[in-house]
Amino acid sequence: MARIVVVGGGYGGVTVAKGLDPLADVVLVEQKDQFVHHAAALRAAVDEVWEHAIFMPYSNLLDRGTVLQGTAARVSGTTVEVFGHDPIEADYIILATGSTYPFPAKYSSSRATVAKARIEQLHQDLASAQSVMLVGGGTVGIEMAGELSNAFPGIQITIVEKGPDVLSTPGYSDALRAELRRQLDDLGVRVVTGAELSYLPPHNVGELGHFTVATKAGEHIEADIWFQCHGSRANTGYLDGTEYQELLHPDGTVRVEPTLQVQGHPTVYAIGDITDVRESKRADAARQQARVVISNISRQLEGEAPDTTYQPTKEWVVLPLGPTLGASQLVDAEGQTRIVGPEQTAEIKGTDLMVSVIRSQLNLP
Ligand SMILES: Cc1cc2nc3c(=O)[nH]c(=O)nc-3n(C[C@H](O)[C@H](O)[C@H](O)COP(=O)(O)OP(=O)(O)OC[C@H]3O[C@@H](n4cnc5c(N)ncnc54)[C@H](O)[C@@H]3O)c2cc1C
Repeated sequence: MARIVVVGGGYGGVTVAKGLDPLADVVLVEQKDQFVHHAAALRAAVDEVWEHAIFMPYSNLLDRGTVLQGTAARVSGTTVEVFGHDPIEADYIILATGSTYPFPAKYSSSRATVAKARIEQLHQDLASAQSVMLVGGGTVGIEMAGELSNAFPGIQITIVEKGPDVLSTPGYSDALRAELRRQLDDLGVRVVTGAELSYLPPHNVGELGHFTVATKAGEHIEADIWFQCHGSRANTGYLDGTEYQELLHPDGTVRVEPTLQVQGHPTVYAIGDITDVRESKRADAARQQARVVISNISRQLEGEAPDTTYQPTKEWVVLPLGPTLGASQLVDAEGQTRIVGPEQTAEIKGTDLMVSVIRSQLNLP
């Protein structure tokens, strides 16, 4: 039976491992001891009930295959080297190691207990803070502002954005920006655009400590705590010094074919945040890419050539501002973009933050 090694058990890795489990000997290599549902991490940052809901065990995921807890140190040719384990020889490899992001959107620790302790400390710090500065007015900065203002009414929030408006990613409509600006304004969130900080606060991200910083234009911003809401980076360091290194872009993403095969390597695939597919990185895209890879490897296992390709969709985003507010840019079946407001945004994501979908995927009750 063919051995398939999936490196990284996030949204994409879990989908592809589960889909191929009935067909092959699947080994899912994941450094964390629990699945982390990042899409709900900003609610967890402010709410202790959610702090537990975002960590989920991998124990029910695979019927036949194995989840190996460990960090892939190097992937070279068809060999996956995992710290503390014998090298694993694979017939197919799927790279799904996602990206890093500053706390509290993502956690660096592999242990859920350590990450939870860090979140609990944050809850205490936020309870004592009267003002917060969010550096970056993209999706994370805006969502964080909504969560903070819902959980800590009265807390003063300032978003500092160096672009001319929030959500500077091309593909988001001005109508979406305007609706979010209106809601942020209603919540009393101050948004300073076209502003770059001259220097960063002296305290670490997410640690209590009053500070004043200045923008390059000379505007002063004071707060008790701050968060860096930008700076995602693809996790592909384990490809350094291997034949795959030449396929890495400077931002760490990997060059893939439309079939999601890593260029020049027909039995090695990449999915999710580490690919150089030109679209904003999303969990649903990672899952959709996983389905493409399941189809292609299924064909290869039958001796056929892979023929399913991944086509990025028009940009869409669901952006809650806490459980009941927010706005979304959706794309309908005809490819038309429309903007929806708080009610539908809460229905799609804001209320349950898609926890039930993920639990069902992990075969959890
Ligand atoms: C705050 C926040 C909210 C978001 N909300 C949404 C949303 O509402 N909808 C949406 O579609 N997207 C959302 N996203 C984006 C989404 O989380 C990412 O696009 C998605 O996680 C990408 O999935 P992935 O499978 O590529 O990587 P990930 O989900 O990041 O998984 C990668 C996995 O690989 C593991 N790993 C990394 N390196 C190694 C290694 N060397 N060895 C072993 N394991 C390794 C990691 O521990 C991790 O578990 C959000 C992101 C953030 C930060």
